[in-house]
Formats: sequence, structure tokens, C-alpha cells
Amino acid sequence: MTYPASEVVEEPALFAPAPEVAPELREFWDATSEGRLLLRRCTVCDEAIWYPRPVCPFCHSTRTVWEQASGRGHIYTYSVVRRGTGGYADAPYVLAYVELAEGPRVMTNIVDCDTDAVEIGQAVELVFHRTAEGTALPRFRPAR
Ligand SMILES: [Zn+2]
Repeated sequence: MTYPASEVVEEPALFAPAPEVAPELREFWDATSEGRLLLRRCTVCDEAIWYPRPVCPFCHSTRTVWEQASGRGHIYTYSVVRRGTGGYADAPYVLAYVELAEGPRVMTNIVDCDTDAVEIGQAVELVFHRTAEGTALPRFRPAR
């Protein structure tokens, strides 16, 4: 299934460090730069796989394919970081696990929100934050 691209914020307020791009994840990071989040899907057991990897952690098959995530999910759990370090010194910010509509739970940040109003179960949507190297980090904001 194809979904419209999510917004890519060119100058995010929250620090967005560039990832190390392994050759097997070039397609994943190229998609992020265009506002699309890719998951691996196992064609044997049909599970969605996160983090992206070539071998299914459920059935050990190597028959996996890329699939675009819807960009929808909800907050599974979160923590408000009030004392960040390094690039994250400009706290507070929200560190969270978001459960994607496709099932996997992704460690990420909740952005564009009142950090004191974030709630477990809250509906969120994907937004990307551009890094200095052209890739973009998948983060989430309250669903609009
Ligand atoms: Zn499998």
C-alpha cells in the first residue's frame, strides 16, 4: 500500500543527528529523506519487522520485503527528559515508544507538543526531521 509522504521539517527544533547508513539500509534512509517510513514485512509469516533487518526475527526467514508504513500510531509509553546533554541540552523533550498501526513499537521522539500534555494511548502521526546529511529522522507529533 502507498501512503502520501509525511512532512519533512528542514530545520527541526529538536537535535537531529545524522545516522550511520549501512549499505543494506540505503533504501530505508533514502525513503526517509522523501518523508516515507519503510518497514520490512516477512512474506512467510506476514509479521511487520522493526528495526529493519534482512532476517525475520519471528520465523527466521530471509524472505522479507520493504513496505511503506502508514505513519499512524499511538504512544505506547514515554518519558519527558528534563535534563538533556550534548545536542539534546535544550530540554525538555519527549522520548517515547510509539506503536505503529502496523504493530511494531518504535523508539522515537514526540515533537510539536506540550511535553506536560503527552499521554499514553495518544494518537500520533509521523513527521520527519532533516539531518545535516540529507537523511531524515522519523519522529511523531499529536495526530491532527
Ligand atoms: Zn517471518
